[in-house]
Amino acid sequence: MRRIPVLDALFTRPVTETAPPPARHKPPARFPGSAQLRHVDAGSCNGCEVEIAQVFAPVCDAGRFGVRLVASPRHADGLLVTGVVTRNMATPLEKTLEAVPRPRVVVACGDCAVDGGVFAGAYGVVGPVGDVVPVDVEIPGCPPDPTAITEALRGLTGR
Ligand code: SF4
Repeated sequence: MRRIPVLDALFTRPVTETAPPPARHKPPARFPGSAQLRHVDAGSCNGCEVEIAQVFAPVCDAGRFGVRLVASPRHADGLLVTGVVTRNMATPLEKTLEAVPRPRVVVACGDCAVDGGVFAGAYGVVGPVGDVVPVDVEIPGCPPDPTAITEALRGLTGR
């Protein structure tokens, strides 16, 4: 008998992984319930972006924890910054943060954003994100695992 994909989808379990139980003694969430983030690529190799795409894809689905990416910094609660900060991106990064209303948060995602990673000291590089704007949350890894990014972002919403 011929299979109908739409019917298969209706009766197939979702691929989303079960959320781990919340930690018992977690710090209070900065944005309880939901957090909107503007992503800024300050000089990434795009490896971190590939993992961030997975964070918002069905398996990790950070949207179910109230975390969303938005197009404008004026609609955001903070920045999700990837990559070491290049000379050309230092001023745009500062200006983008200025456009985010307070209270706000800056998340440095990936080794390059946290401490310069493999590009530390390279020509054309200002330094890690913390050398340009104040960083609140660091997610190490090259690139970080999507589940590690999801867990860090869950810490913002407490969900
Ligand atoms: S941390 Fe690794 S994957 Fe992410 S931008 Fe740097 S080199 Fe690329």
